[in-house]
Amino acid sequence: MKDSFHLNTQLIGLLGHPIKHTYSPFIHNVAIELKKLNYIYLPFDVPTANLKNALKGMIALGIKGFNVTIPHKENILHFLNDVSEEASIIGAVNTIVNDHGKLTGYNTDVQGILETLNPYKESINNERISVVGAGGAARAVIYSLVRYFKPRKIILVNRTEERAESLKNYFKDKMKFDSFKTMELFPPEMVNVFKESKLIINATPIGMYPDSDDSITNLEDSFIKDHIVFDLVYNPPQTRLLQTALKKGAVTLNGLKMLVFQAAKSFELWTGEQMPVEEIQKSLQLYIAS
Ligand code: NAP
Repeated sequence: MKDSFHLNTQLIGLLGHPIKHTYSPFIHNVAIELKKLNYIYLPFDVPTANLKNALKGMIALGIKGFNVTIPHKENILHFLNDVSEEASIIGAVNTIVNDHGKLTGYNTDVQGILETLNPYKESINNERISVVGAGGAARAVIYSLVRYFKPRKIILVNRTEERAESLKNYFKDKMKFDSFKTMELFPPEMVNVFKESKLIINATPIGMYPDSDDSITNLEDSFIKDHIVFDLVYNPPQTRLLQTALKKGAVTLNGLKMLVFQAAKSFELWTGEQMPVEEIQKSLQLYIAS
């Protein structure tokens, strides 16, 4: 009985809505167990209308920190005391640290994006890159590409073209990069856009469970073997987009590595400890397959 009480257990967690299909509690709680730390990671389903009160509650309860996911990554910036330089440029936050009531925002998605794309740096540099999406994840993708790679041109494709346009203007201003083209997401036209790109990135939830049959393109001839296709979606691990690209011999990257490495950076910010990423990746693969 005595051992089951953890009087000094530190709480960390996730704020989002909806958060039914997140793997973050699994990743962090396995890491906590492997590192023998006195923490617990819990998911909190918080709709936008309750965000401000949820943050007050987090402070009142002394919660050490938390991740932020859809739909709060951008609007949470208004409620923070401080924001890292990187998260401020990106304009989106996915990790908050609570230091005795002072909330600081970080964007650890960048770490996950770099770990995924760095092995292909030489192939990507000086090439055209298509990014589908204009939300929080797309912001971190664009920042990472402009800051750490040398894209010849970035083609921003989004369902709402005005949002892609405003993202283009935002990054032109913030990062002094102006080799952008924007266009509306229209699957039949994606064939030509993708054909001109070396790297194609899906930063939308299209193809995500339970709507796994959806795809940003359903056209077999969108891909060639020279392509590198990165789908940020990790559930299912092989989206229709990746399956199609793989059939054509393209390099395909799913969102699982990004997921684990962004988690590792958040974990470090909260606990000061390194996450055992290789063991976590193996456990996560087994968990998903089970
Ligand atoms: P978000 O801020 O809500 O943005 C969503 C984007 O997707 C917007 O551009 C939206 O277009 C577009 N979109 C949404 N539903 C669509 C649909 N049915 N058809 C066409 N476009 C659609 O979300 P986010 O935070 O950027 O996340 C995007 C995806 O990345 C999610 O699947 C998330 O799970 C994934 N992600 C993965 C990782 C990882 O570690 N692997 C990390 C972060 C995010 P509009 O502008 O027209 O609304």
